Amino acid sequence: MQPSRQSELELIKLTKRYGNTTAVDAIDLRIPSGSYCCLLGPSGCGKTSTLRMIAGHEDVSDGDILLGSRNITVLPAAARGTAMMFQSYALFPHLTAQENVAFSLKMRGVPKAERLKRAHDLLERVAMGSYAQRKPAELSGGQQQRVALARALITEPSVLLLDEPLSALDPFLRIRMRAELKRWQLELGFTFVHVTHSQEEAMALADQVVVMNGGRIEQVATPHELFNAPASEFVARFMGGHNVVKRNDQTIAIRADRMQLLRTPGQSSHALNATVRGIEYQGTYVLVSLDAEANASDDLSVMLQEAEFFNAPFEVGTSVQVAWSATDAHQLPA
Ligand code: ADP
Repeated sequence: MQPSRQSELELIKLTKRYGNTTAVDAIDLRIPSGSYCCLLGPSGCGKTSTLRMIAGHEDVSDGDILLGSRNITVLPAAARGTAMMFQSYALFPHLTAQENVAFSLKMRGVPKAERLKRAHDLLERVAMGSYAQRKPAELSGGQQQRVALARALITEPSVLLLDEPLSALDPFLRIRMRAELKRWQLELGFTFVHVTHSQEEAMALADQVVVMNGGRIEQVATPHELFNAPASEFVARFMGGHNVVKRNDQTIAIRADRMQLLRTPGQSSHALNATVRGIEYQGTYVLVSLDAEANASDDLSVMLQEAEFFNAPFEVGTSVQVAWSATDAHQLPA
């Protein structure tokens, strides 16, 4: 495999229509070579359609897809230099791990001895060499993921496309496999494009997060930028951990861990009166949810450090003032 291979991906006015539905609406996006990109957004926002167009599993209604210096918009899936890894891994149950990995070479007419050798080499590479003769049902979820990865890599893609690859796993395994995916991406050095509806997953994995909403791109940013400078109210709400406050024709987002709860009303203009609605212990933090004064905000939540909360606990029903410093108020477009 050639980690230095040109694998920058560029989408130009990429559009997908199904009848009257515009699933992907003229999106422009550049995914740098060798980066980990997550397409993130709620169900129905167009993530999967975008990924499937890149893979060549779905026709493009309008626009272009460039990979390196090639326009791959209308190429058949097998000729693009992309490979897809699916949610359930889609391994053939009646084939061994090695035969699963070798399968696409069989389709390409590679002689048996050669394709089995190449499959075995790849299984070694993902630390699965000693499981080559097992069938999928004889492997754990994590081992199946590695076989699926080897199977995707055998065509020597320059871009790996991952369609919700972790969502079928239990929460514990999901976090372990997530770390493993990131490690593989760094080691292999080529571009990964990963579809997820999980903010946490995107934050943990991505160099670049693309937040989608209604077939359009709301923001492209690093996880850190996304969390500290959401570009829209949608992004602030979708990422969570923020309060959106509307006052004096302005809309601001403030991180929930940057707000203070005061027992006595102050004079600050950076504050709201509110009533404690609920208290949730979360370990490092205590999450206090509040009902704000009329119409300022539909919902407030404040994360207090565990020690800070227990030094002087608040109770449900208590009237408080929620305050923040002006430097923590992030302006959102109206
Ligand atoms: P996501 O992956 O973000 O959940 P999709 O790309 O699957 O979103 O879907 C985007 C929109 O396109 C949705 O409104 C969905 O109902 C619609 N859609 C997806 N696939 C089809 C299809 N084959 N036929 C008609 N509409 C579709």
